[in-house]
Amino acid sequence: MSDCIFCNIVKGNVPSQIEFEDDKIMVFKDINPQAPVHLLLIPKKHFDSLLEVDSEDSDIIGHIYMVAKKIAEQQGFNKDGFRIVMNCGRDGGQTVQHIHFHLLAGRNLQWPPG
Ligand code: 5GP
Ligand code: ZN
Repeated sequence: MSDCIFCNIVKGNVPSQIEFEDDKIMVFKDINPQAPVHLLLIPKKHFDSLLEVDSEDSDIIGHIYMVAKKIAEQQGFNKDGFRIVMNCGRDGGQTVQHIHFHLLAGRNLQWPPG
């Protein structure tokens, strides 16, 4: 989608600090980090939210979690723990309408969320 900020990051039209990329997904630093480690993992294909992902595309979700695990192991925060968050829709607090998973680590994260 031409007016989607994350599609424009995928295309390289908007700069980002990329930590991992393959043919299906991209991982980059959040511009407004909420923890010492705050990465966004996104499919390169545009989906507004989880609600648009159907069963034929659902492999991408598992792939994103496997890449998150690999990053946790590589960066060493697998030992202390981390959190993966996907906000969906208005009440979920989603502000960018291209599905993304927040990977947060590096501090003791509180629960429940606000
Ligand atoms: P949401 O609130 O939709 O779950 O999360 C959107 C996230 O995208 C926010 O944490 C916000 O800081 C991040 N974000 C918004 N615009 C940009 C951008 O242009 N570049 C990067 N790297 N992150 C962005
Ligand atoms: Zn998009």
